[in-house]
Amino acid sequence: MDNNKNILKELNNTIFKHQYPMYLIHFVTERCNANCEHCFVNYKTAEDELSLENIEKIASTSGPYLRNVGITGGEPFIREDIFEIADIWYKNSSATSLSLTTNGSMPDRIEKFCTRISEKNIPVAVLMSYDFIGEKHSEYRGLKDLHLKVYESYKIIKSFPKNMSATFQITLTPENVDSAYETYLYMRDVLKIANINCTMVRGKCADNADDKTRAKMVQVYEQIEKQRTNDFDCYKIKGFEDLTLTEKILNTKNKVQWKYVLKSFKDRKYISPCSAGGLFGVIRYNGNVTPCETIETPIANLKEYDYNFMKLWGSEKALLTRKNIIKSKCACTFEPCWLINLLSSPRYYPELLLSFLKNTYGRKNADK
Ligand code: SF4
Ligand code: SF4
Repeated sequence: MDNNKNILKELNNTIFKHQYPMYLIHFVTERCNANCEHCFVNYKTAEDELSLENIEKIASTSGPYLRNVGITGGEPFIREDIFEIADIWYKNSSATSLSLTTNGSMPDRIEKFCTRISEKNIPVAVLMSYDFIGEKHSEYRGLKDLHLKVYESYKIIKSFPKNMSATFQITLTPENVDSAYETYLYMRDVLKIANINCTMVRGKCADNADDKTRAKMVQVYEQIEKQRTNDFDCYKIKGFEDLTLTEKILNTKNKVQWKYVLKSFKDRKYISPCSAGGLFGVIRYNGNVTPCETIETPIANLKEYDYNFMKLWGSEKALLTRKNIIKSKCACTFEPCWLINLLSSPRYYPELLLSFLKNTYGRKNADK
């Protein structure tokens, strides 16, 4: 009975109230060893980064319905206490899984992390960037031998299959738009990557691209996504491993989300209310909290609320930010928010249900 009540309360929060977050992204640092043109982090020092003690306070007060924490940076493995950060979030919040985005340049640290994460049986989905074939990827990201290191990191993560999954992610930019589809095929056929994502570059890089380049990006994004859907349906790529409910949801949304991201990029228009500032939020390296990655003006810094997340999230300032986002009909392609927008809006449920059924019963048995 109590369980049913909790499910109803969670549904109420997800669909109507948007009071507690479902998904938080934590930028654990703004330091990075790479130098990508499209990057928007600011290469700060470690000085103002949140301490473990304060991260624990934040995690313990992040509300009852948090389902996933996305750990990112900068380069998260620059922080030597990255395992402790992941462990704190998993132990002290209600999150049932974690995701971690890395450039994959530090296989030694990744191996140590995987070993400790595995001992604790924490489910972690690792996402690694891969934008060009071979050395060109290293040149583009400004790190020697990165293409070899990221593949080594992939292999390491794949050797911990019980609770970890690894995904390669192409960020589609004006620079790689002519070769991105080929890169996808290379990852699938040569590197044999089990799960591949494509994400649209955001910020100035996307906004400043000329019309011709944007049209090409639309065409290539669609080409990759259609290919990826087809490859998933006939087991040419595995998709997210079915480790937890989160991965099943991610495979389900994969077939739906890209169409809305594409439409949003193409038309630069509002499609449906954004969940940022309600079900979704971002914690910056220094404790600043923003509704999403794109909006940089903080609602407040957690320090002002003694690192109590829900105190900040329930404050007048936060409520006002949420209202303004809805009122302004804000629109963008930010994928993590799109995931929550899909899950929290019943208008998308028929499509999601169809995708779920297709994934469960309709994949062709071909090369399984
Ligand atoms: S690897 Fe990521 S954080 Fe580092 S410079 Fe490139 S985009 Fe920025
Ligand atoms: S639409 Fe984009 S910029 Fe606007 S609040 Fe949502 S995620 Fe942020």
